[in-house]
Amino acid sequence: MTVELISVGTELLLGNIVNTNAAYLSEKCADLGLSCFYQSVVGDNGERLEGVLKMALERADIVILSGGLGPTEDDLTKEVAAKVMGRKLLMHIPSKKRIEEYFASRNIELTENNWKQAMMPEGAVAVDNENGTAPGVIIEDGEKKVILLPGPPNEMIPMFEKSIMPYLAGSDSGVIYSQTVKVCGVGESKAETLIKDMIDSQDNPTIATYAKNCEVHLRVTAKAAGEKEAKKLVKPVVKELKNRFGPCVYTTNADITLEKAVVDLLVANKLTVSTVESCTGGMLAARLINVSGVSDVYKSGYITYSNKAKRRILGIKKGLLEKKGAVSEEVAREMAKGAATISRAEVSVSITGIAGPGGGTEEKPVGLVYIACSVCGKIKVRKYNFRGNRAKIRETAVSSALILMRQCILEYYSEVTF
Ligand code: ATP
Repeated sequence: MTVELISVGTELLLGNIVNTNAAYLSEKCADLGLSCFYQSVVGDNGERLEGVLKMALERADIVILSGGLGPTEDDLTKEVAAKVMGRKLLMHIPSKKRIEEYFASRNIELTENNWKQAMMPEGAVAVDNENGTAPGVIIEDGEKKVILLPGPPNEMIPMFEKSIMPYLAGSDSGVIYSQTVKVCGVGESKAETLIKDMIDSQDNPTIATYAKNCEVHLRVTAKAAGEKEAKKLVKPVVKELKNRFGPCVYTTNADITLEKAVVDLLVANKLTVSTVESCTGGMLAARLINVSGVSDVYKSGYITYSNKAKRRILGIKKGLLEKKGAVSEEVAREMAKGAATISRAEVSVSITGIAGPGGGTEEKPVGLVYIACSVCGKIKVRKYNFRGNRAKIRETAVSSALILMRQCILEYYSEVTF
């Protein structure tokens, strides 16, 4: 089945707000196994919205619109949808009551235009909005479905998850089941090349790839009559993905983050950890400390930004800093060693680099980062050349440090090679 998304709002066209609703809905529709071939953004203009909706209905089975369900005159989505579907707008008594209750419970005075939100296209289903006044709307016409959702994400998302997802999953009288395989340390294009044959021949289950910072998530989604059958379809595909990506798969649980996987690995091997950071200024420590339960393994973190701090806190020789520079393989190594010595942690990780925009030279350009990881005295240092602005370089350095930690621990304990 195909779905088309229409985001309504002049402020979206002007760039005043970012279209996060479309990003959210696209991902959820992919999870549901719905193919989305077109998306549009249209301003608060009745004629243009009518044109876009008519075109969407010609090429998709389901059209989802978000925005323009408010009480004001420029909120036109419901009126236009009713016109296109040939339905009259009638007062929907349960919605009217809900709106009355909503205003009464908040002690806000109701104005005449609020009743506009209680009007429903004839034969449509009103969808409860637990976080606002505009109900959602489902209009069915033969094989076609038009779904209207409120614009504010804090209203749209709970409504979609509570009511629309089950409706869409059931509309095929089947069950949708997904599992996510999370891969780290493999670029997106390499990941796609590795599974090109699987993607080319996919049908049920489907495989959707999502590139994250230093990670690729592969969501395997199957549709079947029941959950058991759907799981049965997903299982061999997940197994094959695990075969192809080997130790680069860090989890098949959608709720587990990379930092959580690293903390779990430390806990499983009874290892403590310390971090020592220069250009990332504590971001690696913060990501690890975000994981609940990290207190069992995290010993200490050091931010040694200046050369003086590197000398005083970590005992790095002045001569080495002058000869090789703070951003060098040798200094990264000494930073990890120094942190291991003073913290007495079994694992220590260091990051030193040039995040820019200034400070780069021909020999040491912006984006050059060295990361070292020591596991029980065995040290590995890696050189990276990251792209992007300061924020991106620092974020990528942190993810790369987590990946290097994971690889070093696995190599040390499981003799896996990357
Ligand atoms: P309201 O009852 O608040 O008027 P509405 O359904 O009419 O809701 P809009 O008026 O179109 O929705 O948008 C209200 C607000 O919701 C916008 O100002 C914006 O903050 C947010 N919003 C609308 N559409 C989107 C979108 N596509 N992505 C992200 N946010 C959005």
